[in-house]
Amino acid sequence: MKHEIANMTVPILKDQYGRMKRKLRISVTDRCNFKCIYCMPEHPEWMKKQDLLSFEALLIFCQYMVKQGIENIRITGGEPLMRQGVVHFIRDLQALRALGLKRISMTTNAHYLVKYAEQLKQAGLDDLNISLDSLDAEQFKSLTKKELAPVLNGIDAAKKSGLPFKINCVLMKGQNDDQILPMVKWAKHHNIQLRFIEFMPLDGDQHWTDQAVVSEAEILEQLKPHYDIQLIQQQHEPARQYQLDGQYRIGIISTITHSFCGECDRIRLTAQGELYNCLFAQQGLNIKPYLLNILREQKIKQISDFNELDMQVKPYIWRKAQGYHAIQHQQARKISMHMLGG
Ligand code: SAM
Ligand code: SF4
Repeated sequence: MKHEIANMTVPILKDQYGRMKRKLRISVTDRCNFKCIYCMPEHPEWMKKQDLLSFEALLIFCQYMVKQGIENIRITGGEPLMRQGVVHFIRDLQALRALGLKRISMTTNAHYLVKYAEQLKQAGLDDLNISLDSLDAEQFKSLTKKELAPVLNGIDAAKKSGLPFKINCVLMKGQNDDQILPMVKWAKHHNIQLRFIEFMPLDGDQHWTDQAVVSEAEILEQLKPHYDIQLIQQQHEPARQYQLDGQYRIGIISTITHSFCGECDRIRLTAQGELYNCLFAQQGLNIKPYLLNILREQKIKQISDFNELDMQVKPYIWRKAQGYHAIQHQQARKISMHMLGG
């Protein structure tokens, strides 16, 4: 199937720089029980619950996306485990495996995992990314405004459930850059996959400066006296992989100093139904009205027509900008990470 834009023939879910889209991130809520300083604004204005896309509408969108070539769906937030019905939604997504869906993942702060890890596994979730920015209880509290213990218990629960998981650690200068070595030692000891993430200019109150970024080079500099470090050839992963002492690997997602935009295969949907072709895009595409139309039609006629949605989504994806470095100097945006889901 082809799509016409201004006399150009555009293949499905491909942008103007030739990057195919294979991964969809869905934020199911902007609400969160944490207040991470690199993410949440001091005074968040939550989306109204009635404005959130229903799981019914989300499922329609996922079905359309998988038919267009999306292979991985990641559920995120805000904190996705705060949205009631999310486990059921994951169960419903299983039907899309027959259409080509390969992985269903979730990113979580782990606070509620003691309750949900086993249910998520039973519902068919493939894996988790868990955020953990400090092993020091006091520092953790000053970063997130929540306690560390439930998160560590949540990580244990994930382990017991058999759900594979990675730990993501966002580093900020002067806040938690003393955690690089402790985090590596801890993760290596427990044989847990660890990725450090450079702080990106997507915090709610827009306090980001490049001085607050702990760069990939600085992370490696801190680890060098303790480990023999080898860069591993990067595949289609945003994280650059490093082998420590020939046995244990860590990843570093360095969007600021080594952007992987050239290979970006992701698109994102906010909880209100705005599609974003890039984390740093200024403008989203509101697809909610098209999804509601499809739902209405399905209820009346038992058939669904994706044409209207298709005519909006593909040109929007096609217009995806080259990447972070092409758009970093644009004006400040209204949307931040807690709405977009990382
Ligand atoms: N609440 C869940 C969590 O924290 O894992 C999911 C949503 S959170 C927005 C998704 C990911 O984005 C987390 O790994 C978080 O650390 C990361 N993140 C948030 N703000 C960021 C920023 N300004 N720069 C880099 N990563 C950020
Ligand atoms: Fe909440 Fe995740 Fe943002 Fe932290 S990073 S405030 S846990 S949404």
